Amino acid sequence: MKKNAILSTCVLLLTTLLFSCQKETSRNMSEHTKEKIPDEYLNTFNLLKNEKGIPAASISYEAQTKEFIAGDMVFTAALYNNIMYTQQHPKTEQQWNNVFVSYASSQHILYYLDPSLFPYYYFGPLEWAVWYWNGSSPNISFTRTGDRSAANLIVDSYNDPTDSSWIRTTLPAGNGNVGNRIRLNLGVNERNHYVNHITSSNEEKLLLMMHALGHTLGYLHADQYAGLLIPGTPDPAFHQANACGSVMRSVTYVCGWGYDGIKRWSPSDITAIQWGYRYKY
Ligand SMILES: [Zn+2]
Repeated sequence: MKKNAILSTCVLLLTTLLFSCQKETSRNMSEHTKEKIPDEYLNTFNLLKNEKGIPAASISYEAQTKEFIAGDMVFTAALYNNIMYTQQHPKTEQQWNNVFVSYASSQHILYYLDPSLFPYYYFGPLEWAVWYWNGSSPNISFTRTGDRSAANLIVDSYNDPTDSSWIRTTLPAGNGNVGNRIRLNLGVNERNHYVNHITSSNEEKLLLMMHALGHTLGYLHADQYAGLLIPGTPDPAFHQANACGSVMRSVTYVCGWGYDGIKRWSPSDITAIQWGYRYKY
């Protein structure tokens, strides 16, 4: 039994500095904690492991929130059951194997920024990221709301200096809804360290936000795992070798993206958006 932590990916931004993208985590899946997964959620665990190819050792279960966590990605523990039993989930090619992408619910996504928890220095990057995603497909529309109770997606933060993830994002729950949470880790962004919100540029923050929104839409990391691939997209090895191959790499690069309105989706991203949400052009 592996007692020690395994390497868990996290999203980092790179331009001038090479940040560590991996961390030791105490959240790994040991056999001990594995036993704590309720039987009703083992099918979701197996889905992530067997279908999506996420190594079991990098998946941890959080009993309090009933979620599985793998790096910066958070999965609703009821994912499998939702997929199987939610009748509103039509089986179309836009459903990405009917597992993650929730085509029908992506056109009117209301997001709420918690003003007390979401830091000001990500306001601009998030707004630009929303603008780019909204322009990527006629079937993707994020709109900000001031009404928390009406929101499909809550954007806030947590503070864990021992967690080297910059952010945690929930993926679609399998019931037709997009992922409902984006949480910045202030423990990284604001700690007194060589990487924080001051040392990272607006463009790096923009990519982090684009990456997070991609997770809420159902996209996994392009450069990881040997599970199912979106048809027509390159395999993980390609993305490991190509820094600008996708905004959904586990480590994102700026790759020319900026506050200029110029869309720089990679061919792989375009294919993925076309598959999931019908790319606009
Ligand atoms: Zn990620």
